[in-house]
Amino acid sequence: MDLHCCTLCPRMCRADRYAGHGFCGEGAVLRAAKAYPHMWEEPCLSGTRGAGTVFFTGCSLGCIYCQNFRISQEGEGREITPSQLADIFLRLRDRGVHNIELVTPTHFLPLILDALDMSKDRLGIPVVYNSGGYERTETLRALEGYIDIYLPDVKYFSPDISAMYSSAPDYFEYAFAAVKEMVRQTGRPRMDEDGIMQSGVIVRHMIIPSHRRDSEQILRALSPLRDDVLLSLMSQYTPFYRAKEYHGLDRRLSTYEYEKVLEVVNEIGFEGYMQERSSAREEYTPDFDMEGI
Ligand code: SF4
Repeated sequence: MDLHCCTLCPRMCRADRYAGHGFCGEGAVLRAAKAYPHMWEEPCLSGTRGAGTVFFTGCSLGCIYCQNFRISQEGEGREITPSQLADIFLRLRDRGVHNIELVTPTHFLPLILDALDMSKDRLGIPVVYNSGGYERTETLRALEGYIDIYLPDVKYFSPDISAMYSSAPDYFEYAFAAVKEMVRQTGRPRMDEDGIMQSGVIVRHMIIPSHRRDSEQILRALSPLRDDVLLSLMSQYTPFYRAKEYHGLDRRLSTYEYEKVLEVVNEIGFEGYMQERSSAREEYTPDFDMEGI
C-alpha cells in the first residue's frame, strides 16, 4: 500500500500520489465530504438510529451516471488527518449509529487503516466497507480484521458495458473475485437480536435502464454465492451527471425491466432487500447539504 507508486485498485496507475494523482483524482492527503447518520441504507444497516456514513472524496471507478458525482468526480470535500477521521468515527458512535460505514474508501485505505488503528477498539460497533466493487483481492486482504461488513456493488457483467460507463472492461472479473474474498473474510451474514447486521456481505446491484439482461447475467454468475450473501436489488436509477449523453440511460427504470430482473432473483432464491419501484425517487438519494463533518 505504497502511495508513492499506487496500485490500490485494479487501475494500478502506479501514480506517485505525493506528487499528483491517478485515475481516482486524489493525492496522498485524506479528504472526505460528509459524515452523518444515514437512514436510507438497507434496514439491517440503518436500523432506527442510522448508519454512520463517511463519504470520501474521489473514486477509482468514475461511473458516468454517478449520483454522488460532486464528491466522487468533482472533488467536493475537505482535507482531514487520520486522527481527525478517528474522532469523526467516535463522534458518530456517540450519536448512537449502528455502524461506521466507509463510503468509497479504497483509494485512501492506508490512511483509513491508520484511523481505524486509533479508534476500532473503542468503537464497539461494526465497520462497513461500502465500495463500487472494483477491488483488488490483494488490497482487500489487508482489511481482514478491520472490516465486519462488506457492502460491494456488482454493477456490470459485460466488459463492453463496464468499459462504456465506467472505463473498466475488466470490472466483473475483479468484482466477482472481490465478493468471494469478502465472503471468505466475514462468513455468512449474521444479525443481532434486533435484526441489525453484525458481519457478512451484502451485494448491491442497481438495475440500469436498457440493460436488464446484463443484470440477469450478474445474478446467474453470483448464484453459487446465493447462501453466502444478502442481495440488495436497487431500482432507484436516476440519470445523474453525464447519463443524459448516453442513449438508453436518460430515463428511469421501467416497471417491466424491474419485474423481469426480480423474476430471476426469485428463481435463484437470493435473500435480501428488493427495493420497491415506489422508492425510486430522487429524494431517495442522500442529501449532501444535510450535515457537515
Ligand atoms: S487508487 Fe487511484 S492512484 Fe491508486 S491505482 Fe487506483 S486509481 Fe490509481
